[in-house]
Amino acid sequence: MHGYHCEYCQDTVRARVVKRGAFRHKTQFVILEDMTTGICDTCGNRYYSADLVRSVHDIATGAGTGSVWFFLILMFL
Ligand SMILES: [Zn+2]
Repeated sequence: MHGYHCEYCQDTVRARVVKRGAFRHKTQFVILEDMTTGICDTCGNRYYSADLVRSVHDIATGAGTGSVWFFLILMFL
């Protein structure tokens, strides 16, 4: 996920660890801690990987597991 470009300002999007983030999934919120996201240095736009979005869905529907997060962390190393 490193080194790709922001679709708004064309600056570089960097991987950052966010201490806490809230995602809305239909009628409920899913709170994730220490999640890795892509954040544009210039405009601050955030990018979430497809796996992260899928994980939010899994947690919201009760299907989430810890191994999903381990896999996500490995992707950003
Ligand atoms: Zn940007």
